[in-house]
Amino acid sequence: MKTLLIILLITITEIVMPQNYDFEQYLYQSYERYKEKALTHRRFKYSDIIPLINNLKNKSGFKVKIVGKSVEGRGLNLITIGKGKTKIFMWSQMHGDEPTATAALFDIFNFINDPVNKDFCNSLFNKVTLYFLPMVNPDGAEKFKRRNFYDIDLNRDAVSQQTPEAIVLKDVFDSLKADFGFNLHDQGHRYSVGNSFRTASISFLAPAYNYPKDFNNVRTNAVKLIGNMFNALSQFIPGHIAKYDDEHEPRAFGDNFQKWGTSTILIESGGWKDDPEKQFIRKLNFIALLSALKSIAEESYVNTSTKIYDAIPFNGEYIYDMILRNLTVQNKKEKIKVDIAVNLDEFELKKENRIFYRSNVADLGDLSVFYAYNDYDFDGYTIDRAKVYDKKVYSLKELKKLDYPLLYSKGYSTILVNKLPDENFSDYPINIALKNKIDTTINIGEIANFVIKKNNKIEYIVINGFLFKIDTDRKPEGNGLVIK
Ligand SMILES: [Zn+2]
Repeated sequence: MKTLLIILLITITEIVMPQNYDFEQYLYQSYERYKEKALTHRRFKYSDIIPLINNLKNKSGFKVKIVGKSVEGRGLNLITIGKGKTKIFMWSQMHGDEPTATAALFDIFNFINDPVNKDFCNSLFNKVTLYFLPMVNPDGAEKFKRRNFYDIDLNRDAVSQQTPEAIVLKDVFDSLKADFGFNLHDQGHRYSVGNSFRTASISFLAPAYNYPKDFNNVRTNAVKLIGNMFNALSQFIPGHIAKYDDEHEPRAFGDNFQKWGTSTILIESGGWKDDPEKQFIRKLNFIALLSALKSIAEESYVNTSTKIYDAIPFNGEYIYDMILRNLTVQNKKEKIKVDIAVNLDEFELKKENRIFYRSNVADLGDLSVFYAYNDYDFDGYTIDRAKVYDKKVYSLKELKKLDYPLLYSKGYSTILVNKLPDENFSDYPINIALKNKIDTTINIGEIANFVIKKNNKIEYIVINGFLFKIDTDRKPEGNGLVIK
C-alpha cells in the first residue's frame, strides 16, 4: 500500500508543472527527476561530461560548438539555447576542483529537455538566450586541482591572457557581450555566515569593478538579482547564505566582466553538514540559477531592493570540522579545561572511489565563538594521548582482520607493521608505523590521536580526527595515516 501511494505521488508530481505554483518549491520538489544521474560525486572528469554534451546535440533547441581547447587539447564546448534578446552567460569550473555548479548545469539541461516544463521554457526562451561554458578548466578537473596544466590560476588571467582557457573565456565573453554573467565556483566548506554558527552553504557576490567598490547600473543589476536569489534560497537554507569577499581583484574574470558591462554574479558553493560530495549544494545551484533565469526573463529583479544584498553577512571563518569542548587535561601540576578544534583535510584519491583524510589539531583553548560540523560537549571527561601498540608487528595482510574496537578500547591509535605501503594513508581505521617513536602530543598542527576518559575509563578514541565511541555497534569509519 505504501509503495502504491509513493508511486501515485510520483506519478502526480510527474504530470505537470502546477499552474498556481511557487516556482522554487516546484524546483525543490521535482529536483530528483532532473538530477543528472551520470554525475554522482565531485570528482567527475571531462570524459564524464562529454557524452552528456554530445546528447544535447540531438535535443531540440540546443546548439553545441567547440570554441577552443585546453592546454592538453580538451575541447571547450559552448552550449546555446533560446532566441530572446537578453543574453545570459554561465561558465563553471575555471578552478578544476570546483565542480558543483558544473553538475548543476547538466541538471538544468535535463530540466529544459523535460516536456513537462515546455510552457515555462518557451516563454523563457522568447525573452532570453542562454550560453553555457561548463568546465572551463578540464585539465585541472582531470587532476582535481584548482589551477590549469601549467599551474596558472585562470581566474587571475582575465587581462594578461597567458592561458588558452582564459583566452577562450574572454573570446566568448567578447563575442556575446552578455547582459548577465554567472561565474560559478566552489569555496571551502568551513566558511560561516558572518560570525554566526551557520555554514556559508552558498555565497554570492556582485564583484567590484574598481578599488573604491563603486556601484553603477551594471553592478546594481547584479546586486538586485542576487537579492532575488537570496530570497529564493532562504526558504530552504535560512541563515546559510553569505557574501563573498568583495575586494576588487583587477586580474579576475568576474571583476573585469562587471567592468566591461556584463552584470556579473559570483556564486560559491560552500558546505553543508553530512554532504561531503555537495549534492545538496548542487541542488541549491539548480534552484538559484533557474530562479535567476525566471527573474531576468520577467524582469522582476528590477524592483528588488538593494538592501537585501547589503544585509547579507560576509563569509566568516568560524567553522571547524570537529570541536571537542570542555575537556580536562591533566598537566604535570594542574588540571586545565580546554576546547579542541580538529580539521580533516581531504587528499588525493589514491584508489578509485576513496578519499583519504589527514587530521590536524587546528586550535586549543576557549573556542566558544566557534562552531563545528561535529560539535561535542565533553564536560566531565579528560583527554589523554593515544598509544602505540608495540607488542606485535603486523604484516599489511593481517590488517584486514584486526579487531579495531578492541585496540581502541585499550587506547591504541597506532600499530606497528613490518613494511610500510607507498601511500601516506592507511586503508584501515588505524595509523601504522615501523617504530614506536611517535610523538602524540596534543598540540596545534599535530595529528588528532587521543583518548577521552571518564572516571579513568576510555569511553571515546580519536584516530586521525575520527571520533569513535567505545562499546558501540557502529563500525569504525575513516582512515589512519602511514607515519613515516
Ligand atoms: Zn574558484
